[in-house]
Amino acid sequence: MFGKMYIRFWGVRGSIATPGKGTVKYGGNTACIEVRCGDEILILDAGTGIRELGNTLLKEKPRHINILFSHFHYDHIEGFPFFSPIFNKDYSITLIGKSKLDGTLEQLFATQLMFPYFPLTLQELAADIGFHEVNKKSSFRVGNITIKFGHLRHPGGCLGYRIEYRGKSFVYATDTEHSDQIDVSLLNLSSRADVLVYDCNYTDEEYAGRVGAPKVGWGHSTWLQGVKIAKAAKVKKLILFHHDPSHDDGFIDRLESQTQKRFRESYAAFEGMEITL
Ligand SMILES: [Zn+2]
Ligand SMILES: [Zn+2]
Repeated sequence: MFGKMYIRFWGVRGSIATPGKGTVKYGGNTACIEVRCGDEILILDAGTGIRELGNTLLKEKPRHINILFSHFHYDHIEGFPFFSPIFNKDYSITLIGKSKLDGTLEQLFATQLMFPYFPLTLQELAADIGFHEVNKKSSFRVGNITIKFGHLRHPGGCLGYRIEYRGKSFVYATDTEHSDQIDVSLLNLSSRADVLVYDCNYTDEEYAGRVGAPKVGWGHSTWLQGVKIAKAAKVKKLILFHHDPSHDDGFIDRLESQTQKRFRESYAAFEGMEITL
């Protein structure tokens, strides 16, 4: 594994966790992806999938962990208070993101862990928790990893991340809404990436309101738009992500095969999916 980038999906669902017999194949946990580059651990978002990841990490020797947040909607943070390493004094954890509020990133998490929402406060966590607020620069480094970010189209804002390590690149672009024009910021961020994880929450029929209420302005995209950006950016592999809570396994199977007809190297994300670059 040394020298490679290893990726594992722990939560692939959007909006709210959806356990049940209809979601066994792809999984019902919300957004969480583990990325390992050599000895460094990066976690993308702390949806409910991070709980199981935390339990797995506890079986290894304690180390430093970086959690990168795309934004702070519930489905991307609600697993954080249940991430076991935060209760262990041998861990140091850096939370990375852009608070988007007048306050700091630290204040944002202090609010999440606050009476009456949670029984413990941020100050009571045993781990050494640090904060890295991304600034106006469009990239930063963690060890030998270069992390670039771009601003996505989502209510309240959202960051897309590009992780580069030893010539390989992995792009995480969830919670973004397309427009008539290709998003230049996203195009640049995902240019020639080995893997693009993209917000494929809706079908075009759902988005336009031909099925149910129109979803324009809700901040999400479709698999067809994923294909467009994947082709325009010349990425090697497209991963459909942020599955809608109403889409069961059979529905996602059909989305995946529809997508593959237009872009062969595309796959619907599922819990336990692993990619090594
Ligand atoms: Zn979301
Ligand atoms: Zn969101």
